[in-house]
Amino acid sequence: METREHEIMIIIGGGPAGLTAALYAARAELQPLVFTGMTLYGQVSQTDLIENYPGFPEGITGMELGERFEKHAVRFGARVLPEPVESVDLLQSPFSVKTYTKTYEAETLILAMGADHKKLEVPGEAEFTGKGVSYCATCDGFFYRGKDIHVIGGGDSAIEEAIILTRFANSVTIIHRRDALRAQPLLERRARANAKIRFLWDTVVEEIVGRERVQNLRLRNVKTDQQFEVPTDGVFISIGHVPNTALVGNQVELDEQGYVRIDWKMRTSVPGVFAAGEIADSHYRQIITSAAMGAAAALQADCYLNEQNP
Ligand code: NAP
Repeated sequence: METREHEIMIIIGGGPAGLTAALYAARAELQPLVFTGMTLYGQVSQTDLIENYPGFPEGITGMELGERFEKHAVRFGARVLPEPVESVDLLQSPFSVKTYTKTYEAETLILAMGADHKKLEVPGEAEFTGKGVSYCATCDGFFYRGKDIHVIGGGDSAIEEAIILTRFANSVTIIHRRDALRAQPLLERRARANAKIRFLWDTVVEEIVGRERVQNLRLRNVKTDQQFEVPTDGVFISIGHVPNTALVGNQVELDEQGYVRIDWKMRTSVPGVFAAGEIADSHYRQIITSAAMGAAAALQADCYLNEQNP
């Protein structure tokens, strides 16, 4: 028979939610095991400078904050493995968690797999990803020194990405499907004051065109229906996120937008399984709120374990 390693708590995901859950669980002596997957610290590591995490008035890089989260959790006994989880079985408790090397059983589980970049889903996007199509200014901005590039989207992320890209690019044109930004006023003011940033309003991308690399964007004005092409050296797509629910999508209840449905105690539809961070939050999506959800999930999981073994 297959051997299963027994764990009190497994946390899937190593971003702010997962690592904060690990910190709280470790301090409650639950010896949590965290599987981080391949993207170290989740989306945080792709954030250049974080200026709104309390306690860091000068800002802190995403990578450094992620490292600090991990170090803090490990200091109290959390084990963090950079291994992707292959499958989970939530049908019976203890729950089963399978990686490529082992099968574990866990008395309680915290889902903190976060969210990923939403795709534009136009022809050329997949083909030219990494060849002029990017989703991360911090990761790829450097390659666009002196270039004329485009950013798609009108939310906080798109505007932040555009501002970061002006450090490298000659010009950054923000293409937005409406005539008003969704982004917060502070970011909008910064973008409008930046001489390198231009806006193309009421416009959608219909195709990303190129040969070896991206060369043109085929666009359409949604008000006039006029189609036109613009040359580009690169396009950064920043139109929101989709929750990473593939592992559990048919085993826990999801909301209308596809996020894991939780109550205010971070409980999913399966007793003993909790969720925290962006996998369960389409609204706030801040590092501080994800971390707070992680803390709450760990505290609640501890209560659950106490109820199971009074
Ligand atoms: P978002 O707020 O959902 O904005 C997505 C943007 O992309 C919107 O402008 C949307 O247009 C556009 N869009 C969506 N689908 C599209 C499509 N198929 N084609 C063209 N355009 C499309 O996402 P986000 O900017 O990633 O931000 C998510 C959350 O994180 C927000 O709550 C935000 O406040 C937060 N955030 C905060 C900070 C910060 O505080 N510094 C930084 C980054 C993100 P419409 O406007 O027309 O819907």
